[in-house]
Amino acid sequence: MRLCRFNDNRLGVVKDDQVFDVTEALDVLPAVSYPLPRTDLLIANLDKVRARVEEVLPGASSCPVSEVKLLSPVANPGKLVAAPVNYRKHLEEARADAEIHHNNQIAEIQRIGLFLKATSSLVGAGEGVALRHTDRRNDHEIELAVVIGKAGTRISRENAWDHIAGYCIGLDMTVRGPEERSLRKSIDTYSVLGPWLVTADEIPDATQLDFWLTVNGEDRQRANTRDLVLDIPELIEFASAFYTLHEGDVIYTGTPEGVGPVKAGDVIVANIEGIGEMRVDVRSA
Ligand code: MN
Repeated sequence: MRLCRFNDNRLGVVKDDQVFDVTEALDVLPAVSYPLPRTDLLIANLDKVRARVEEVLPGASSCPVSEVKLLSPVANPGKLVAAPVNYRKHLEEARADAEIHHNNQIAEIQRIGLFLKATSSLVGAGEGVALRHTDRRNDHEIELAVVIGKAGTRISRENAWDHIAGYCIGLDMTVRGPEERSLRKSIDTYSVLGPWLVTADEIPDATQLDFWLTVNGEDRQRANTRDLVLDIPELIEFASAFYTLHEGDVIYTGTPEGVGPVKAGDVIVANIEGIGEMRVDVRSA
């Protein structure tokens, strides 16, 4: 199932180029009170929501996907985990290019581990990216994003697939500079998630997905998830060795070679096999 959030927090199912409004299915979500749970409520109740979606779908109105404003398919993730330099060729290009490394030591992911992006940086494809610090280089990074569906801690790589709710396209937008990654990659709108959540049952093998990104129609990044240094189960094992992964947490799995600058007015198009395509407009903040 392809679930999206759109316009004023509507819930949609995407089929072909149409989005069906199934917001009514959210009535199965439990009422919550303060303090709010650490989970994303929709993802934590995904099975119930999906069952309800099937009931309301036959009566749902639809419109072309191109006519809606796509929001982040996960509204309230507890954390955005991200993998630095997790493709070998990106490690090589980062070490070779002073405009990328800024004299930061670019070490291998096995040594430096993972980092976190602020959840306040999260947007959907339809919200676009608003650049700050435009005197510096601002780069696109396309990444397969994994959404955790079952909470766990100290998850073994063998059990990791059972903890995945689904997949999205992630953009880990980055302002280059000497500061810590978590600061430079947590600017408002610098974590794009979309265009929708594809549930894990629709992608039986996420270990060899082609993906690519263009800017204004120009090829920038093109790779396959088979070239990940730490693969998806290893990332889940690594992350959950340090902290509990909750329903709705997102793991940005890392970007391949070809990262490059964007400026206001640019249009990013990102595509991952089995998920689909999203258009993201870039503007000044
Ligand atoms: Mn990245």
